[in-house]
Amino acid sequence: MSDLFTTIISSPVAKRVGVPQPTRLRRYEPGMPLCEGPVLVAGSGRFADGIASWLDDIGVATVRAQPEAGEKVGAVVLDLSSAADPAELDQLRVVGAPAVKALKRNGRVVVVGTDPATLSGVAEVATQRALEGTVRSLGKELRAGATANLVLAQGGATGGVRSAVEFFLSGRSAYVDGQVVRVDESTTDTVDAVRPLAGKVAVVTGAARGIGADIARVLARDGATVVAVDVPAAGDALAAVANEVKGTALQVDVTAEDAGRRIVEHATTRHGHLDIVVHNAGITRDKLFVNLDEVRWRSVIDVNLRSILRMNEAILGEGGLADGGRIVCVASIAGIAGNRGQTNYGASKAGVIGLVTALSAQVRDRGITVNAVAPGFIETEMTARIPFATREMGRRLNSLQQGGLPKDVAETIAWFASPGAAAVTGQVVRVCGQSLLGA
Ligand code: NAD
Repeated sequence: MSDLFTTIISSPVAKRVGVPQPTRLRRYEPGMPLCEGPVLVAGSGRFADGIASWLDDIGVATVRAQPEAGEKVGAVVLDLSSAADPAELDQLRVVGAPAVKALKRNGRVVVVGTDPATLSGVAEVATQRALEGTVRSLGKELRAGATANLVLAQGGATGGVRSAVEFFLSGRSAYVDGQVVRVDESTTDTVDAVRPLAGKVAVVTGAARGIGADIARVLARDGATVVAVDVPAAGDALAAVANEVKGTALQVDVTAEDAGRRIVEHATTRHGHLDIVVHNAGITRDKLFVNLDEVRWRSVIDVNLRSILRMNEAILGEGGLADGGRIVCVASIAGIAGNRGQTNYGASKAGVIGLVTALSAQVRDRGITVNAVAPGFIETEMTARIPFATREMGRRLNSLQQGGLPKDVAETIAWFASPGAAAVTGQVVRVCGQSLLGA
Protein backbone atom coordinates (compact mmCIF):
# COMPACT_ATOMS: atom_id res chain seq x y z
CA MET A 1 0.00 0.00 0.00
CA SER A 2 1.42 3.37 -0.99
CA ASP A 3 0.44 6.93 -0.17
CA LEU A 4 1.69 10.41 -0.93
CA PHE A 5 4.31 10.39 1.84
CA THR A 6 5.69 6.99 0.82
CA THR A 7 5.82 8.10 -2.81
CA ILE A 8 7.71 11.27 -1.88
CA ILE A 9 10.31 9.66 0.39
CA SER A 10 11.05 6.89 -2.08
CA SER A 11 11.36 9.28 -5.04
CA PRO A 12 14.74 9.57 -6.85
CA VAL A 13 15.14 13.13 -5.52
CA ALA A 14 14.62 12.03 -1.92
CA LYS A 15 17.11 9.20 -2.41
CA ARG A 16 19.66 11.62 -3.94
CA VAL A 17 19.44 14.01 -0.97
CA GLY A 18 19.91 11.15 1.46
CA VAL A 19 16.45 10.62 3.00
CA PRO A 20 16.80 7.26 4.85
CA GLN A 21 15.20 4.45 2.83
CA PRO A 22 13.67 1.44 4.56
CA THR A 23 15.36 -1.82 3.53
CA ARG A 24 13.36 -4.18 1.37
CA LEU A 25 12.80 -7.11 3.73
CA ARG A 26 13.67 -10.65 2.69
CA ARG A 27 10.25 -12.30 2.96
CA TYR A 28 9.72 -16.05 2.66
CA GLU A 29 8.66 -17.58 -0.64
CA PRO A 30 8.41 -21.35 -1.07
CA GLY A 31 11.65 -22.83 -2.29
CA MET A 32 13.94 -20.07 -1.07
CA PRO A 33 16.91 -21.08 1.13
CA LEU A 34 16.24 -20.87 4.88
CA CYS A 35 18.57 -17.90 5.21
CA GLU A 36 21.60 -16.35 3.64
CA GLY A 37 24.68 -18.25 4.73
CA PRO A 38 27.02 -18.85 6.20
CA VAL A 39 25.61 -19.04 9.71
CA LEU A 40 28.02 -18.59 12.59
CA VAL A 41 26.98 -21.01 15.35
CA ALA A 42 28.78 -20.19 18.59
CA GLY A 43 28.49 -20.44 22.36
CA SER A 44 28.97 -23.26 24.82
CA GLY A 45 25.30 -24.04 25.55
CA ARG A 46 23.63 -27.44 25.16
CA PHE A 47 21.99 -26.72 21.78
CA ALA A 48 24.83 -25.32 19.62
CA ASP A 49 26.15 -28.64 18.28
CA GLY A 50 22.64 -29.91 17.41
CA ILE A 51 21.76 -26.66 15.64
CA ALA A 52 25.00 -26.70 13.63
CA SER A 53 24.52 -30.29 12.47
CA TRP A 54 20.85 -29.67 11.59
CA LEU A 55 21.86 -26.62 9.50
CA ASP A 56 24.51 -28.72 7.74
CA ASP A 57 21.87 -31.41 7.09
CA ILE A 58 19.53 -28.94 5.38
CA GLY A 59 22.34 -27.49 3.29
CA VAL A 60 22.96 -24.20 5.09
CA ALA A 61 26.70 -23.50 5.40
CA THR A 62 27.84 -23.03 8.98
CA VAL A 63 31.01 -21.71 10.55
CA ARG A 64 32.02 -22.31 14.15
CA ALA A 65 34.79 -19.70 14.36
CA GLN A 66 34.89 -15.93 13.96
CA PRO A 67 34.65 -14.70 10.36
CA GLU A 68 37.98 -13.57 8.86
CA ALA A 69 38.38 -9.86 8.18
CA GLY A 70 36.21 -8.93 5.19
CA GLU A 71 34.19 -12.17 5.36
CA LYS A 72 30.39 -11.79 5.66
CA VAL A 73 27.87 -13.95 7.53
CA GLY A 74 24.13 -14.26 6.92
CA ALA A 75 23.27 -14.99 10.52
CA VAL A 76 24.68 -15.69 13.94
CA VAL A 77 23.24 -18.18 16.41
CA LEU A 78 24.68 -17.70 19.89
CA ASP A 79 23.90 -20.41 22.42
CA LEU A 80 24.26 -19.19 25.99
CA SER A 81 21.75 -21.63 27.46
CA SER A 82 24.27 -22.91 30.01
CA ALA A 83 25.53 -19.51 31.18
CA ALA A 84 25.10 -19.31 34.95
CA ASP A 85 27.19 -16.32 35.96
CA PRO A 86 27.11 -12.75 34.60
CA ALA A 87 30.82 -13.05 33.73
CA GLU A 88 29.84 -15.57 31.03
CA LEU A 89 27.75 -12.89 29.30
CA ASP A 90 31.01 -11.54 27.93
CA GLN A 91 30.70 -14.24 25.22
CA LEU A 92 27.92 -12.10 23.75
CA ARG A 93 30.35 -9.25 23.19
CA VAL A 94 33.45 -11.22 22.31
CA VAL A 95 31.76 -13.53 19.80
CA GLY A 96 28.70 -11.48 18.91
CA ALA A 97 30.16 -8.07 18.17
CA PRO A 98 32.55 -9.06 15.32
CA ALA A 99 29.87 -11.33 13.83
CA VAL A 100 27.29 -8.54 13.92
CA LYS A 101 29.78 -6.27 12.18
CA ALA A 102 30.06 -8.90 9.43
CA LEU A 103 26.28 -9.37 8.97
CA LYS A 104 24.83 -9.22 5.47
CA ARG A 105 21.65 -7.27 4.63
CA ASN A 106 18.57 -8.83 6.24
CA GLY A 107 20.93 -10.70 8.57
CA ARG A 108 19.77 -12.54 11.66
CA VAL A 109 20.96 -12.72 15.26
CA VAL A 110 19.35 -15.51 17.26
CA VAL A 111 20.38 -15.96 20.89
CA VAL A 112 19.44 -19.20 22.67
CA GLY A 113 19.07 -19.16 26.44
CA THR A 114 17.28 -21.01 29.23
CA ASP A 115 13.92 -19.76 30.51
CA PRO A 116 14.74 -18.07 33.85
CA ALA A 117 11.38 -19.33 35.18
CA THR A 118 12.77 -22.88 35.10
CA LEU A 119 15.87 -21.97 37.15
CA SER A 120 16.31 -21.34 40.86
CA GLY A 121 19.85 -20.03 41.44
CA VAL A 122 19.80 -16.25 41.76
CA ALA A 123 22.95 -15.73 39.68
CA GLU A 124 21.78 -18.03 36.87
CA VAL A 125 18.33 -16.42 36.77
CA ALA A 126 19.94 -12.98 36.59
CA THR A 127 22.35 -14.16 33.88
CA GLN A 128 19.64 -15.68 31.72
CA ARG A 129 17.34 -12.69 32.19
CA ALA A 130 20.20 -10.45 31.07
CA LEU A 131 20.06 -12.02 27.60
CA GLU A 132 16.69 -10.37 27.04
CA GLY A 133 18.13 -6.91 27.68
CA THR A 134 20.95 -7.45 25.20
CA VAL A 135 18.75 -8.89 22.47
CA ARG A 136 16.10 -6.17 22.73
CA SER A 137 18.79 -3.47 22.70
CA LEU A 138 20.68 -5.06 19.82
CA GLY A 139 17.47 -5.18 17.78
CA LYS A 140 17.32 -1.42 18.07
CA GLU A 141 20.92 -1.03 16.83
CA LEU A 142 20.78 -3.37 13.82
CA ARG A 143 20.07 -1.84 10.43
CA ALA A 144 19.49 -2.97 6.84
CA GLY A 145 16.60 -5.32 7.66
CA ALA A 146 18.56 -7.34 10.24
CA THR A 147 16.74 -8.64 13.33
CA ALA A 148 17.68 -10.00 16.78
CA ASN A 149 15.49 -12.45 18.69
CA LEU A 150 15.81 -14.72 21.74
CA VAL A 151 14.74 -18.35 22.15
CA LEU A 152 14.42 -19.53 25.77
CA ALA A 153 14.44 -23.29 26.30
CA GLN A 154 12.34 -24.64 29.15
CA GLY A 155 14.03 -28.02 29.05
CA GLY A 156 16.67 -29.95 27.18
CA ALA A 157 14.70 -31.04 24.11
CA THR A 158 16.25 -29.81 20.88
CA GLY A 159 13.20 -30.14 18.58
CA GLY A 160 11.27 -27.11 19.82
CA VAL A 161 14.37 -24.94 20.05
CA ARG A 162 15.26 -25.87 16.50
CA SER A 163 11.80 -24.93 15.22
CA ALA A 164 12.02 -21.51 16.87
CA VAL A 165 15.58 -20.93 15.61
CA GLU A 166 14.44 -21.96 12.13
CA PHE A 167 11.55 -19.46 12.26
CA PHE A 168 13.79 -16.60 13.36
CA LEU A 169 16.46 -17.39 10.74
CA SER A 170 13.91 -17.59 7.95
CA GLY A 171 12.13 -15.00 5.82
CA ARG A 172 8.92 -15.95 7.66
CA SER A 173 10.04 -13.69 10.53
CA ALA A 174 10.99 -10.71 8.33
CA TYR A 175 8.98 -8.24 10.48
CA VAL A 176 9.55 -9.96 13.86
CA ASP A 177 12.28 -8.23 15.82
CA GLY A 178 13.36 -8.00 19.46
CA GLN A 179 11.10 -10.90 20.51
CA VAL A 180 11.45 -13.59 23.14
CA VAL A 181 9.92 -17.05 22.62
CA ARG A 182 9.79 -19.78 25.27
CA VAL A 183 9.86 -23.37 24.12
CA ASP A 184 8.89 -26.24 26.37
CA GLU A 185 10.01 -29.87 26.64
CA SER A 186 7.69 -31.67 24.28
CA THR A 187 9.18 -33.42 21.30
CA THR A 188 8.49 -32.38 17.75
CA ASP A 189 7.21 -34.27 14.74
CA THR A 190 9.23 -34.38 11.57
CA VAL A 191 8.16 -31.53 9.37
CA ASP A 192 7.60 -31.23 5.63
CA ALA A 193 9.53 -27.99 5.06
CA VAL A 194 7.51 -26.90 2.01
CA ARG A 195 3.96 -27.94 3.02
CA PRO A 196 4.13 -28.26 6.82
CA LEU A 197 0.32 -28.03 7.12
CA ALA A 198 -0.55 -30.70 4.53
CA GLY A 199 -3.65 -32.64 5.62
CA LYS A 200 -4.71 -30.04 8.22
CA VAL A 201 -8.04 -28.21 8.26
CA ALA A 202 -7.83 -24.59 9.39
CA VAL A 203 -10.55 -22.06 10.23
CA VAL A 204 -9.74 -18.36 9.87
CA THR A 205 -12.21 -15.74 11.13
CA GLY A 206 -12.34 -12.30 9.53
CA ALA A 207 -10.91 -13.84 6.35
CA ALA A 208 -12.67 -11.66 3.75
CA ARG A 209 -9.93 -9.04 3.66
CA GLY A 210 -6.82 -7.57 5.31
CA ILE A 211 -4.74 -9.74 7.58
CA GLY A 212 -7.35 -12.54 7.66
CA ALA A 213 -7.28 -12.95 3.87
CA ASP A 214 -3.50 -13.30 3.95
CA ILE A 215 -3.67 -15.78 6.84
CA ALA A 216 -5.98 -17.89 4.63
CA ARG A 217 -3.54 -17.59 1.70
CA VAL A 218 -0.44 -18.49 3.73
CA LEU A 219 -2.07 -21.44 5.53
CA ALA A 220 -3.31 -22.76 2.16
CA ARG A 221 0.14 -22.25 0.61
CA ASP A 222 1.56 -24.31 3.48
CA GLY A 223 -0.85 -27.13 2.64
CA ALA A 224 -3.92 -26.58 4.85
CA THR A 225 -7.53 -26.75 3.70
CA VAL A 226 -8.99 -23.42 4.80
CA VAL A 227 -12.48 -22.55 6.02
CA ALA A 228 -12.80 -18.78 5.55
CA VAL A 229 -15.25 -17.15 7.99
CA ASP A 230 -16.65 -13.61 7.90
CA VAL A 231 -19.89 -11.68 8.32
CA PRO A 232 -22.65 -12.14 5.70
CA ALA A 233 -22.16 -8.49 4.58
CA ALA A 234 -18.64 -9.43 3.40
CA GLY A 235 -20.03 -12.45 1.49
CA ASP A 236 -18.66 -11.62 -1.98
CA ALA A 237 -15.15 -10.82 -0.79
CA LEU A 238 -15.24 -13.92 1.43
CA ALA A 239 -16.24 -16.17 -1.47
CA ALA A 240 -13.41 -14.70 -3.57
CA VAL A 241 -10.83 -15.51 -0.86
CA ALA A 242 -12.26 -19.01 -0.30
CA ASN A 243 -12.13 -19.72 -4.06
CA GLU A 244 -8.62 -18.36 -4.38
CA VAL A 245 -7.32 -20.67 -1.64
CA LYS A 246 -9.48 -23.59 -2.84
CA GLY A 247 -11.19 -23.74 0.54
CA THR A 248 -14.76 -23.14 1.66
CA ALA A 249 -16.58 -20.02 2.91
CA LEU A 250 -18.76 -19.81 6.00
CA GLN A 251 -20.81 -16.67 6.55
CA VAL A 252 -21.18 -16.23 10.27
CA ASP A 253 -20.93 -13.33 12.69
CA VAL A 254 -18.44 -14.43 15.36
CA THR A 255 -20.57 -12.78 18.06
CA ALA A 256 -23.55 -15.05 17.26
CA GLU A 257 -24.47 -17.42 20.09
CA ASP A 258 -24.02 -20.47 17.83
CA ALA A 259 -20.90 -19.29 15.93
CA GLY A 260 -18.59 -21.90 17.52
CA ARG A 261 -21.00 -24.76 16.87
CA ARG A 262 -21.50 -23.70 13.23
CA ILE A 263 -17.75 -23.47 12.66
CA VAL A 264 -17.13 -26.94 14.10
CA GLU A 265 -20.06 -28.41 12.13
CA HIS A 266 -18.90 -26.86 8.86
CA ALA A 267 -15.28 -27.97 9.27
CA THR A 268 -16.10 -31.53 10.33
CA THR A 269 -18.93 -32.22 7.88
CA ARG A 270 -17.26 -30.59 4.87
CA HIS A 271 -13.65 -31.51 5.57
CA GLY A 272 -13.71 -34.33 8.13
CA HIS A 273 -11.86 -32.69 11.04
CA LEU A 274 -10.65 -29.43 12.57
CA ASP A 275 -6.98 -28.89 13.41
CA ILE A 276 -6.27 -25.16 13.46
CA VAL A 277 -8.39 -22.18 14.53
CA VAL A 278 -7.22 -18.62 13.95
CA HIS A 279 -9.28 -16.02 15.82
CA ASN A 280 -8.50 -13.01 13.64
CA ALA A 281 -11.82 -11.12 13.27
CA GLY A 282 -11.55 -7.79 15.03
CA ILE A 283 -12.81 -4.22 14.99
CA THR A 284 -11.79 -0.81 16.30
CA ARG A 285 -14.21 1.88 17.53
CA ASP A 286 -11.75 4.52 18.72
CA LYS A 287 -12.69 7.42 21.04
CA LEU A 288 -11.01 9.06 23.99
CA PHE A 289 -12.01 7.26 27.18
CA VAL A 290 -14.13 10.13 28.47
CA ASN A 291 -16.19 10.15 25.25
CA LEU A 292 -16.69 6.39 24.91
CA ASP A 293 -20.32 5.38 24.56
CA GLU A 294 -21.80 2.02 25.44
CA VAL A 295 -22.01 0.79 21.82
CA ARG A 296 -18.35 1.50 21.06
CA TRP A 297 -17.24 -0.17 24.29
CA ARG A 298 -19.47 -3.22 24.06
CA SER A 299 -19.04 -3.96 20.35
CA VAL A 300 -15.23 -4.01 20.59
CA ILE A 301 -15.22 -6.22 23.70
CA ASP A 302 -17.83 -8.52 22.11
CA VAL A 303 -16.15 -9.01 18.73
CA ASN A 304 -12.52 -9.02 19.86
CA LEU A 305 -12.75 -10.94 23.14
CA ARG A 306 -16.08 -12.39 24.29
CA SER A 307 -16.74 -14.08 20.94
CA ILE A 308 -13.45 -15.99 21.25
CA LEU A 309 -14.26 -17.20 24.75
CA ARG A 310 -17.71 -18.33 23.59
CA MET A 311 -16.55 -19.98 20.35
CA ASN A 312 -13.77 -21.83 22.17
CA GLU A 313 -16.35 -23.67 24.28
CA ALA A 314 -17.69 -25.40 21.16
CA ILE A 315 -14.29 -25.62 19.48
CA LEU A 316 -12.73 -27.37 22.49
CA GLY A 317 -15.83 -29.49 23.14
CA GLU A 318 -16.44 -33.04 21.99
CA GLY A 319 -16.05 -33.51 18.24
CA GLY A 320 -14.35 -30.12 17.88
CA LEU A 321 -10.65 -29.33 17.64
CA ALA A 322 -8.52 -32.47 17.31
CA ASP A 323 -5.99 -33.34 20.01
CA GLY A 324 -2.65 -31.83 18.98
CA GLY A 325 -4.59 -28.94 17.43
CA ARG A 326 -3.72 -25.26 17.36
CA ILE A 327 -5.50 -22.10 18.47
CA VAL A 328 -3.92 -18.82 17.42
CA CYS A 329 -5.38 -15.46 18.45
CA VAL A 330 -4.67 -12.08 16.91
CA ALA A 331 -3.97 -9.59 19.70
CA SER A 332 -2.29 -6.21 19.14
CA ILE A 333 0.55 -4.14 20.55
CA ALA A 334 -2.26 -1.86 21.78
CA GLY A 335 -3.04 -4.68 24.22
CA ILE A 336 0.55 -4.58 25.52
CA ALA A 337 1.55 -0.93 25.37
CA GLY A 338 -1.85 0.77 25.26
CA ASN A 339 -2.80 3.37 22.70
CA ARG A 340 -4.44 6.79 22.93
CA GLY A 341 -8.10 6.59 21.97
CA GLN A 342 -8.14 2.79 22.31
CA THR A 343 -9.09 1.98 25.91
CA ASN A 344 -11.80 -0.36 24.59
CA TYR A 345 -9.56 -1.98 21.95
CA GLY A 346 -6.58 -2.16 24.35
CA ALA A 347 -8.80 -3.90 26.92
CA SER A 348 -10.04 -6.44 24.37
CA LYS A 349 -6.56 -7.26 23.07
CA ALA A 350 -4.97 -7.44 26.55
CA GLY A 351 -7.86 -9.76 27.43
CA VAL A 352 -6.92 -11.96 24.48
CA ILE A 353 -3.39 -12.26 25.89
CA GLY A 354 -4.83 -13.27 29.28
CA LEU A 355 -7.02 -15.85 27.54
CA VAL A 356 -3.99 -17.32 25.78
CA THR A 357 -2.03 -17.60 29.02
CA ALA A 358 -4.83 -19.33 30.93
CA LEU A 359 -6.17 -21.56 28.16
CA SER A 360 -2.75 -22.81 27.04
CA ALA A 361 -2.20 -24.32 30.50
CA GLN A 362 -5.65 -25.97 30.50
CA VAL A 363 -5.34 -27.76 27.16
CA ARG A 364 -1.67 -28.68 27.34
CA ASP A 365 -2.45 -32.32 28.21
CA ARG A 366 -4.39 -32.66 24.92
CA GLY A 367 -1.33 -31.47 23.00
CA ILE A 368 -3.22 -28.36 21.91
CA THR A 369 -1.21 -25.16 21.77
CA VAL A 370 -2.68 -21.68 22.26
CA ASN A 371 -0.64 -18.66 21.19
CA ALA A 372 -1.12 -15.09 20.02
CA VAL A 373 0.44 -12.72 17.57
CA ALA A 374 0.43 -9.04 18.47
CA PRO A 375 0.72 -7.05 15.25
CA GLY A 376 2.12 -3.54 15.26
CA PHE A 377 1.55 -1.25 12.30
CA ILE A 378 0.36 -3.43 9.44
CA GLU A 379 -0.62 -1.96 6.05
CA THR A 380 -4.37 -2.72 5.80
CA GLU A 381 -7.66 -0.87 5.31
CA MET A 382 -7.82 -0.57 9.10
CA THR A 383 -4.54 1.39 9.27
CA ALA A 384 -5.20 3.30 6.00
CA ARG A 385 -8.02 5.06 7.89
CA ILE A 386 -5.69 6.39 10.63
CA PRO A 387 -5.06 10.18 10.37
CA PHE A 388 -1.92 11.02 8.33
CA ALA A 389 0.49 12.16 11.10
CA THR A 390 -0.39 9.30 13.46
CA ARG A 391 -0.18 6.82 10.59
CA GLU A 392 3.33 7.96 9.59
CA MET A 393 4.51 7.75 13.21
CA GLY A 394 3.14 4.22 13.53
CA ARG A 395 4.71 3.20 10.24
CA ARG A 396 8.22 4.56 10.88
CA LEU A 397 8.71 4.29 14.67
CA ASN A 398 10.15 0.79 14.73
CA SER A 399 13.58 -0.76 14.35
CA LEU A 400 12.87 -1.76 10.73
CA GLN A 401 11.60 1.77 9.91
CA GLN A 402 8.58 0.61 7.91
CA GLY A 403 5.10 -0.84 8.26
CA GLY A 404 4.56 -4.58 8.12
CA LEU A 405 2.46 -6.48 5.58
CA PRO A 406 -0.53 -8.73 6.38
CA LYS A 407 1.62 -11.61 5.13
CA ASP A 408 4.12 -10.98 7.95
CA VAL A 409 1.43 -11.61 10.55
CA ALA A 410 0.24 -14.65 8.61
CA GLU A 411 3.72 -16.19 8.51
CA THR A 412 4.06 -16.10 12.31
CA ILE A 413 0.60 -17.66 12.65
CA ALA A 414 1.57 -20.38 10.17
CA TRP A 415 4.64 -21.13 12.28
CA PHE A 416 2.54 -21.42 15.46
CA ALA A 417 0.23 -23.74 13.50
CA SER A 418 3.04 -25.93 12.18
CA PRO A 419 3.87 -29.37 13.62
CA GLY A 420 7.36 -28.10 14.44
CA ALA A 421 5.91 -25.61 16.94
CA ALA A 422 4.31 -28.32 19.12
CA ALA A 423 6.57 -27.16 21.96
CA VAL A 424 5.49 -23.52 21.72
CA THR A 425 2.43 -22.59 23.77
CA GLY A 426 1.14 -19.66 25.82
CA GLN A 427 3.35 -17.29 23.84
CA VAL A 428 2.71 -13.83 22.44
CA VAL A 429 4.92 -12.84 19.53
CA ARG A 430 4.80 -9.24 18.41
CA VAL A 431 4.91 -8.78 14.66
CA CYS A 432 5.81 -5.13 14.81
CA GLY A 433 9.37 -4.61 13.53
CA GLN A 434 10.20 -3.90 17.20
CA SER A 435 7.85 -0.94 17.42
CA LEU A 436 9.07 1.71 19.82
CA LEU A 437 5.56 1.78 21.27
CA GLY A 438 5.78 -0.18 24.49
CA ALA A 439 8.89 -1.99 23.30
P1 NAD B 1 -9.85 -5.42 8.68
O1 NAD B 1 -10.86 -4.47 9.22
O2 NAD B 1 -9.20 -5.10 7.38
O3 NAD B 1 -10.48 -6.90 8.58
C1 NAD B 1 -11.19 -7.47 9.66
C2 NAD B 1 -12.12 -8.55 9.11
O4 NAD B 1 -12.88 -9.06 10.23
C3 NAD B 1 -13.14 -7.99 8.11
O5 NAD B 1 -13.23 -8.82 6.98
C4 NAD B 1 -14.43 -7.98 8.90
O6 NAD B 1 -15.60 -8.14 8.08
C5 NAD B 1 -14.24 -9.16 9.84
N1 NAD B 1 -15.12 -9.06 11.00
C6 NAD B 1 -15.35 -7.97 11.77
N2 NAD B 1 -16.30 -8.25 12.68
C7 NAD B 1 -16.66 -9.54 12.49
C8 NAD B 1 -17.62 -10.38 13.11
N3 NAD B 1 -18.38 -9.96 14.10
N4 NAD B 1 -17.74 -11.66 12.65
C9 NAD B 1 -16.98 -12.11 11.62
N5 NAD B 1 -16.06 -11.32 10.98
C10 NAD B 1 -15.91 -10.06 11.42
O7 NAD B 1 -8.79 -5.56 9.84
P2 NAD B 1 -7.27 -6.09 9.82
O8 NAD B 1 -6.37 -4.92 9.86
O9 NAD B 1 -7.09 -7.11 8.77
O10 NAD B 1 -7.21 -6.75 11.27
C11 NAD B 1 -7.31 -8.15 11.50
C12 NAD B 1 -6.98 -8.42 12.96
O11 NAD B 1 -5.68 -7.90 13.25
C13 NAD B 1 -7.93 -7.74 13.94
O12 NAD B 1 -8.14 -8.58 15.04
C14 NAD B 1 -7.16 -6.51 14.37
O13 NAD B 1 -7.57 -6.04 15.61
C15 NAD B 1 -5.74 -7.04 14.38
N6 NAD B 1 -4.70 -6.02 14.26
C16 NAD B 1 -4.52 -5.29 13.13
C17 NAD B 1 -3.50 -4.36 13.07
C18 NAD B 1 -3.21 -3.55 11.83
O14 NAD B 1 -2.24 -2.79 11.84
N7 NAD B 1 -3.97 -3.69 10.76
C19 NAD B 1 -2.66 -4.15 14.18
C20 NAD B 1 -2.88 -4.91 15.32
C21 NAD B 1 -3.88 -5.84 15.34
